[in-house]
Amino acid sequence: SEIILIENLHKKYPNGTYALRGVSLKIKKGEMVGLMGPSGSGKSTLLHIIAGLDLPTEGRVWVMGREVSSMKEDERADFRKRHVGFIFQFFYLLEDFTALENVALIGQLAGVPDPVRKAEKLLERLGLSHRLHHRPSELSGGEQQRTAIARALILQPDVLLADEPTGNLGIEEGRKVMELLVNLKEEGMTLLVATHNVDLIPYFDRIVRLRDGRVVEEGG
Ligand code: ADP
Ligand code: ADP
Repeated sequence: SEIILIENLHKKYPNGTYALRGVSLKIKKGEMVGLMGPSGSGKSTLLHIIAGLDLPTEGRVWVMGREVSSMKEDERADFRKRHVGFIFQFFYLLEDFTALENVALIGQLAGVPDPVRKAEKLLERLGLSHRLHHRPSELSGGEQQRTAIARALILQPDVLLADEPTGNLGIEEGRKVMELLVNLKEEGMTLLVATHNVDLIPYFDRIVRLRDGRVVEEGG
């Protein structure tokens, strides 16, 4: 029941940098895995390739049994939209829109029925019922990140990929965000969270460590 299967992944950027040097990995449905390693070890590159945002130079990636690494660009974009949620260190919310609009808009563009009602329910669930009509600049970092999580969830992804989701947050806000991610896992979500923050270790079921583009340790 692997939801993500990665086989001998290599990534060489056009400028000659080797970001991944033969990564193989399996992630099971319902796991919350920490992808750890120092800055520059290849964590972001790996997440981007799993999400189909970038292609490997060599090797293969399957998500939900579909080989993402062999899809054409349009197909990859469509697959990502329907199956893979992405959370970033910087939240990338639209500044001219409220929290509710930021979430509902993504649902609406994707043809989700009743997107405003759905966005409202998600934001309420993430503890933001009092922030629906605030703009990102009026929200704390943690509230912005929770809005970004709601924006990912409105498309009902099967997998959530998070790149340093607490990297821009204070300790308390980071803890809250991690607890929300754990709640999602308990409801059946599969999560892969890249971070170099060792304080996050207790939240994970399993840790995969990267160093210089290689897996150096895979917890069980
Ligand atoms: P991490 O997320 O662990 O910090 P990255 O995947 O961002 O690691 O980076 C891995 C290596 O690839 C680093 O040496 C980084 O500078 C390089 N890199 C990342 N993105 C690019 C890019 N678009 N072009 C060239 N090199 C890149
Ligand atoms: P992280 O802290 O997650 O490793 P970075 O700040 O290294 O993120 O990278 C942010 C973005 O910049 C990534 O999407 C990556 O593709 C790009 N990037 C990183 N390093 C390089 C690089 N050396 N040359 C070009 N682009 C890069």
